[in-house]
Amino acid sequence: MALRQIIIDGDPALRKISRPVEKFDDRLQTLIDDMIDTMYENNGIGLAAIQVGILRRIFVMDIQDGSGVHVLINPDIVETEGSQLFMEGCLSVPGCVGEVERPNRLVVRAQDREGHPFEITAEGLMAVCINHEYDHLDGILFTDKVKGDLIRE
Ligand SMILES: [Zn+2]
Repeated sequence: MALRQIIIDGDPALRKISRPVEKFDDRLQTLIDDMIDTMYENNGIGLAAIQVGILRRIFVMDIQDGSGVHVLINPDIVETEGSQLFMEGCLSVPGCVGEVERPNRLVVRAQDREGHPFEITAEGLMAVCINHEYDHLDGILFTDKVKGDLIRE
């Protein structure tokens, strides 16, 4: 198990557009394992590669619904429906939460850690998490989308 340091809002890397993953090699497997360990260690439900300083289109999530950990590489949100408001936080914005509007349902296509394509149809919290993590890949933070005040805990 190897933990990586999470970079915090204010670091310009968080505003960059992550690049697609092209090589599904051992180095990628190590990165993914480290991201999963780092997410759990910090009690997160999702973590994007850029949050550990790696500019690649990867995120991991476990929304604690019993479905376990999901690894999404080169994800593409191909369908969204409805909207929901959810009180969000982010490991890169410690001590802050705020209400964000996200799709209520979405369909995402991605590759797994071996490069095989798959699709998830998500609702509720999983849709929130996927949309939040996807935003990280394009340099967007939840604080950009907060409705009303950002609440400092
Ligand atoms: Zn985040």
